[in-house]
Amino acid sequence: MKYWYLEKYKHIKVTELNLLKNDLKFFFCIKKITKKEGEALLLIDINLLKEEELIILLHYIIYYKKSSLNKIVLIINKLLEIPDNSMPTTDYTLSEMLEEIKNLSGNRPYKEKIQNNNIAACYNCLNVFYVDKISYINKRNICLCPFCKSTNLYFDNDYIPMNYYFLKLAKLYYKQTPLGCNFKNIQKLLKNFVFFKETSESIVLNTKIFKNTKALSSNKKVTSFEEEKLLYTYYNVLNNYDLTYNFNLTIEVPSLEDKNKFTFGIFLIVFLAESFGENPYLKKVFLSFKTAGDSIFYKKLFKTFITFS
Ligand SMILES: [Zn+2]
Repeated sequence: MKYWYLEKYKHIKVTELNLLKNDLKFFFCIKKITKKEGEALLLIDINLLKEEELIILLHYIIYYKKSSLNKIVLIINKLLEIPDNSMPTTDYTLSEMLEEIKNLSGNRPYKEKIQNNNIAACYNCLNVFYVDKISYINKRNICLCPFCKSTNLYFDNDYIPMNYYFLKLAKLYYKQTPLGCNFKNIQKLLKNFVFFKETSESIVLNTKIFKNTKALSSNKKVTSFEEEKLLYTYYNVLNNYDLTYNFNLTIEVPSLEDKNKFTFGIFLIVFLAESFGENPYLKKVFLSFKTAGDSIFYKKLFKTFITFS
């Protein structure tokens, strides 16, 4: 299912509303919902609402109408019926991915493209969806994302990857992080504060966490959904620490097969870029490896990211 992380909120209690709020913050980036828009959706029978309307309504209720727990349960159960539509990870190298991302700004989502495409991806809210959901077109003839109303869309016939980490990297490239960092700032932060050696004075995120996300240790090709799950798992562990003071972080990188090493490397880059870009207390990150070969592999990948221009 597409909204797998809502499963645990199927029978949500009032005490869990804040957890749900945090999860929505992690998974969605939608524009501020107006009262008019929210109230209008509230009047419609939930069974008649489209996926994107359910998402908007869920946010509206959580933020402005805290009492409607029954309605939240109904919306969540509707969203859980939506099947998984995640795309497999890409075979591109990191520099090919970054090159594609750089070219995205010249690739505008003109209205005419709807006819020749099936799927669209948004690198603002990271949603991947069928083009028939697109109903907003602006005055310049550009399609807007049905979920977040941004123009950061591209289509499947552009032959550009649409997996989660690709969209995350594109977002890092074009958008500022919550702390106001742009892509160049992020590159500098990773260059100056990520170290390829062990340290003892830090919070350790170890291989045990990784074992909960079995996808990367199997032989099957990883999906976008599994990338999302891995990132979510690490964020959750990190969020469970009391991080209101400066801290160092050590990540024990698990031993992986070659093809999964790449996915984990991209995960590390995205995770660290976002962590530095939104957590003012994160000072230094140390990466520790099982083998010298691993260390060389990841160092090379980081270098590609840091030096890309
Ligand atoms: Zn969007």
